[in-house]
Amino acid sequence: MTHERWLEAHAYLRPVADLSAQVDRAAGEIDVLDARVPDWEDYRSDFLAGVPLLTSSDASVDLEPGGRMAAALLSRLASGALPDTLAAEVRALDAEVRRDPQASRRIADFLLRDDTITPLFPGLLRYLGWTAMARFLRPVRNGFDGWRVEDKWLRRYCPTCGSLPAMAQLIGTDSGRKRLLCCGCCGTRWQFKRTGCPFCENDAQRLTSVTVGETVLRIDHCESCGGYLKTYDGQGNETLLLSDWSSLHLDLIAHDRGLKRLAASLYDFEPAQPVH
Ligand SMILES: [Zn+2]
Ligand SMILES: [Zn+2]
Repeated sequence: MTHERWLEAHAYLRPVADLSAQVDRAAGEIDVLDARVPDWEDYRSDFLAGVPLLTSSDASVDLEPGGRMAAALLSRLASGALPDTLAAEVRALDAEVRRDPQASRRIADFLLRDDTITPLFPGLLRYLGWTAMARFLRPVRNGFDGWRVEDKWLRRYCPTCGSLPAMAQLIGTDSGRKRLLCCGCCGTRWQFKRTGCPFCENDAQRLTSVTVGETVLRIDHCESCGGYLKTYDGQGNETLLLSDWSSLHLDLIAHDRGLKRLAASLYDFEPAQPVH
């Protein structure tokens, strides 16, 4: 499944696809600053206690350069051509960031859910900020993926940034199947129980699956809390099918069925659910 064929079949996704492509292009044009990969042994006890990497004072990953990258992305987008409403919001955010000498630090804190920080357009800043920050964090995420023992986490929130999952992915066949939860913010994928709701406090609840006309995407929902998770059943098209925007039509279907989006999303421009 190519990007273009997906858009031919789902033409209503084209505006968000275009926006996402434009933001990714701008993000590809800013300088990537070096992220310091932590000493994993310093972080081990926090990891075992369920503290996400970026909030661990023992790991002390400095996110300020990622905040600088986010400010650079805003500035690049503000000087380019964007759809009307968005252009005004991006320019207002860019002006706000330029006035603040501590902006890069504050953007980083904001992305980690410091709710004392109230920017003009929080949802938009969260989307653009994480787009830049995820690029900054790539070496840290790769190192973490290599070090992390998956069955020592198995939690409902992201081991890197602490967000709830945006989506899930099923990998493998039959008895060897495993389920990954996918973070829409930092891009980490981590292992979780095959069945079981990641949103309930009582996560012994099982999920029910609904197929929705797609062969590789489905909606898994929990009858207890009404939360649902879009799930990619396959491998090889992660960039497209785990991007969240490419399946916004599933969110509409789920909404029509009375289900609740408890998964974190960067595309509804609402604040993510705080977990940690
Ligand atoms: Zn994350
Ligand atoms: Zn539930």
